Amino acid sequence: MKSNYSKRMKRVRAILAGRGLDALLVTCPENRRYLSGFTAEDVGISESAGALLVLRKEAALLTDGRYEVQARDEAPDWDLAIYRRGMARSLKNLMQGCGGHNLAYEPDYLSCQRLEAIKKALPEIKLVPLGGRIETMRSIKSSSEIESLKKAVFAAEKVLGGILRDIVPGMTEREIAWRILEGLWQYAEGPSFSPIVASGPNAALPHAVPTDRPIAEGEPILIDMGAKLGGYCSDMTRTVFLGEAKSPFREIYTIVRNAQIAAQKAIRAGLTGRQVDKVARDVIRGAGYGPRFVHSLGHGVGLAVHEAPILSQRSRKKLRPGMVVTVEPGIYIPDQGGVRLENMVLVEAEGVTILSKNDWFYEF
Ligand code: ZN
Ligand code: ZN
Repeated sequence: MKSNYSKRMKRVRAILAGRGLDALLVTCPENRRYLSGFTAEDVGISESAGALLVLRKEAALLTDGRYEVQARDEAPDWDLAIYRRGMARSLKNLMQGCGGHNLAYEPDYLSCQRLEAIKKALPEIKLVPLGGRIETMRSIKSSSEIESLKKAVFAAEKVLGGILRDIVPGMTEREIAWRILEGLWQYAEGPSFSPIVASGPNAALPHAVPTDRPIAEGEPILIDMGAKLGGYCSDMTRTVFLGEAKSPFREIYTIVRNAQIAAQKAIRAGLTGRQVDKVARDVIRGAGYGPRFVHSLGHGVGLAVHEAPILSQRSRKKLRPGMVVTVEPGIYIPDQGGVRLENMVLVEAEGVTILSKNDWFYEF
């Protein structure tokens, strides 16, 4: 694993050299982990667990006293800079020591307040926004990353499989969500995101929050959940019915499943996100539900549950072997319900490997 980090750092330095940059401040928690092994997560944008400062030759991990022991342990090859009076001040000392003239930063992961503090501390340094470069590196997974993702998928399936056997009419969405969380803490490092359990009309909301509504027979019950394992996330959605599925969701289910199968068959390296999205969207449009497919087809999954690439109508980037993406078409009928089905697939030169093993799909 150690050599992974040095390989990644080499590539980051090549990016810096190519852009004439002297230094890069890494504040995206997943990028920080990807390059150093330091696993701490940020509490929020206003409370960072630290940053990496990558210089042409040296590199340092900047953090505060709360994370000192963890940082030393997880990133033993990194020079530690423990700040007591803020990251900007510590950055100033390190930048002055290296004689650099500019500093790149990740605009999506730096608060305005912190950027202002850095500008103030380093008035002579040119600050350059540099977004998405490490995210692009992260989008292609190594074999060990793929193994971790498979384990995260397996853990989520194991948890959901156990719960699907037990759910009965009258249980509330929140009770199911609670059991999912319990299982994810038992069989993984926890959830990769807060699970969605949405029944009946609530299933019409793609990002519903579990409520105290009791589930009933015949209605769609949409469950979107994932595990985190070894830092890697899984993400899957199943829509299930207790007893007989009622119309129109029985028909809608088959349309969504056909859209998913068509996309999974079509995906291969070289296609753009937009071409893949279109395959699923055409199936749903052809069935008359085009306007009810209200989100994009899928997204990359890795250290973050949503990451590059994106499979949407706007995405012109080409898929490459080693990318792991979700395929998650859905149809939502306001006030009635919805169906979404989500698998994770590994993109290969000639097609995909579907990472989700247990299907729990209906053939009506
Ligand atoms: Zn999902
Ligand atoms: Zn997803």
